[in-house]
Amino acid sequence: MKILVQKFGGTSVATRDAMQKVLNKVTDGLKRSDKVIAVLSARAGETNKLLALADEWSMTPDSAECDALVSTGEQVSITLFTMLLKDAGIRARSLLSWQIPIKTDSDFGRARIRSIDSGNLRSYLESYDVLVIAGFQGCTEDKRITTLGRGGSDTSAVAIAAVLDSAECEIYTDVDGVYTTDPNICSSARKMDRVAYDEMLEMASMGAKVLHIRSVEFAKKYKVPVRVRSTFSDDPGTLVTQEDSSMEAVLVSGIAYDKDQARVTLRALPDVPGTAAAVFGPLSEKGILVDMIVQNTSNDGHTDITFTVSRKELPQTLELMHTIADKTGAAEILHDVNVAKVSAIGVGMRNHSGVAARAFAALTQEGINILMISTSEIKITILIQEKYVELAVRILHDTFGLDWSID
Ligand code: ADP
Ligand code: ASP
Ligand code: MG
Repeated sequence: MKILVQKFGGTSVATRDAMQKVLNKVTDGLKRSDKVIAVLSARAGETNKLLALADEWSMTPDSAECDALVSTGEQVSITLFTMLLKDAGIRARSLLSWQIPIKTDSDFGRARIRSIDSGNLRSYLESYDVLVIAGFQGCTEDKRITTLGRGGSDTSAVAIAAVLDSAECEIYTDVDGVYTTDPNICSSARKMDRVAYDEMLEMASMGAKVLHIRSVEFAKKYKVPVRVRSTFSDDPGTLVTQEDSSMEAVLVSGIAYDKDQARVTLRALPDVPGTAAAVFGPLSEKGILVDMIVQNTSNDGHTDITFTVSRKELPQTLELMHTIADKTGAAEILHDVNVAKVSAIGVGMRNHSGVAARAFAALTQEGINILMISTSEIKITILIQEKYVELAVRILHDTFGLDWSID
């Protein structure tokens, strides 16, 4: 039995008209396979509204209740869409995570999928041609509802495709595919026909929200080809797939940016073994993700440590740093929220040198100051003042020859 998994994002299910387009894609999917599993997001703006509601009700909303609340956005979209399918004479039903079940750990707000009952899904498919599944949500062993983190419906879809051995997972959104950079901020961005899992992983983790990072991790691990397409066009989209030699020939394939960054510096810490552990241990215990880290060379037995965290985690980070500064004897704590990071990504970097130097030179020419740098095998990330981020994206896009041209 050929099963196609199709995921539709918030704008695709926002209105009745948009859902009619989704209906066309699902009908088309049924022509290409025996069964379709449609994984839906909440209607555009709903998840934000529900999160704001929780903040209106409580200064510190309970995380488990918050997940149960926020997950209702998807319950609305799947039921409304299933009504349209049934009106069109298609054998369909909606499914919430606990009805499958999709089991997760109990890390509310960013839960990880542990298992999906594929046998149960297959038995539902004996009675229905289309299953409409709520994305973004799971449930714990003790039957509490969880959510997978913002943008998590992509992960629900790819994970379902993986357990059902689907030949491909289609992610329908509001752009024609994965672009060399966010097409909404750079008009010369080009759509890519194919992108390697590793490049997509870096792009997603560096801020390109077109795919949720864990969805790419799943796709890579279980070798699920993912096709990113638009609900509103017939473009074949972008295939996220295994790397091949033609991809390596391209030095930089994409530029990503992330404004959700805050920089923290601990000044004049004693430069002794255990200092970094004393700083980062408590952060990791609280589940705070640290992104870039720089430690200065020793000066009179003292050193500075600078790192970045997500802006929403800054208050908790600063609170922890005050305790740590008292314990370690750091001279002061500095922070800055007006920062953002830009990254150049490409598997071609593995075999080429000089990419970083070209990026630095291009930014310097425009008078953009570099605050922090980090590199991996296939990525260079540069922290800059937030006000320059869009300019920096366009400069790097141009520098690495990614701009759209007629030939
Ligand atoms: P959905 O609600 O369908 O999941 P998202 O808003 O999560 O859609 O993701 C699609 C958006 O991702 C696009 O509208 C675009 O602004 C943004 N984006 C960022 N970087 C890229 C990129 N490199 N290619 C395509 N889209 C990108
Ligand atoms: N509705 C959730 C969100 O807005 C999940 C998703 O859209 O993927 O983050
Ligand atoms: Mg999304």
